[in-house]
Amino acid sequence: MQLYNTLSAKEREKLIEEAGKDRLTISFYKYAHIGNPHILRNHLFITWNEMEVLGRIYVAHEGINAQLSVPAEKFGNFKNHLDSISFLENVRLNIAIEQDNKSFLKLKVKVRKKIVADGLNDATFDVTNKGIHVGAEEFNRLIEDPDTVLVDMRNHYESEIGHFKNAITPDVDTFRDSLDIIEKDLAEHKEDKKLVMYCTGGIRCEKASAYYKHKGFKNVYQLEGGIIEYTRQVRDQNLENKFLGKNFVFDHRRGERISEDVISHCHQCGKPCDTHVNCANEACHLLFIQCEECAEAMDQCCSVECQEIHALPIEEQKRLRKGKGASNKIFKKGRSPVLKYKR
Ligand SMILES: [Zn+2]
Ligand SMILES: [Zn+2]
Repeated sequence: MQLYNTLSAKEREKLIEEAGKDRLTISFYKYAHIGNPHILRNHLFITWNEMEVLGRIYVAHEGINAQLSVPAEKFGNFKNHLDSISFLENVRLNIAIEQDNKSFLKLKVKVRKKIVADGLNDATFDVTNKGIHVGAEEFNRLIEDPDTVLVDMRNHYESEIGHFKNAITPDVDTFRDSLDIIEKDLAEHKEDKKLVMYCTGGIRCEKASAYYKHKGFKNVYQLEGGIIEYTRQVRDQNLENKFLGKNFVFDHRRGERISEDVISHCHQCGKPCDTHVNCANEACHLLFIQCEECAEAMDQCCSVECQEIHALPIEEQKRLRKGKGASNKIFKKGRSPVLKYKR
């Protein structure tokens, strides 16, 4: 029985192209008590592999977090299968607005300690005592209230290309850092202000809202389903869209355009741009914002140094990388001294 991915990304890409069929990019999460994550992991892999589902899925004792690409014609089967798993029956599926048949090229189901690397010790607070979930319409009303403090729970490289008007966007690399910064900034207002938070698909707010309530915040709200679900509701219910720019997503697409505003800048020349790329030098792979002109001039690299390495024969590049630990800058995500216009 096949329990792991066997095709390379290139082989898969070719298969998808040859099939010529539409795929849906879907995400969902659920906190639930899972007795044996390994059994669930194998069950999901076997079933989804057969359905040609691709994506990145984390399973833990605390629940499941999944980002997927599902063949459109298999969506019914996929949904029926989810509904057959008791804790996933009718789970809310976030379906991407802009489709990309190559959003994921492998199926990876991993057992982890946690479904989000939140850096929290869950034993120290009641994770089930969450904030009030609000939909798009209520959220729009709340964020116009002068007593509201609106907080973006995502990292700096995500909010840089898109966020809600008037949101506080902590300049942080990790979720854990942002929790502390916000608590400190709002220490005076734990009782008199409404703390309203949002993230990409809602999962980070599930923990954050419980954490802030534990820390003494009295009025805590969270955007149900995050920016993805907000956008869908705004479109379906004809509401005013208060999100500016692009929603950063964790698949091949990198970002989903929500409004026409371009709120960030090319990190190399400073002109308006909100296209994320990874440095073409495999040993660097830095995630940063680069306009088309700079991409052309720099061969999609972050620096002259990387451009020179990228221009070498592949074998020579491999030799240089040896023993250095590949992709050693990957976690800097836009924070590099070579990027002149990174805030
Ligand atoms: Zn540029
Ligand atoms: Zn680079």
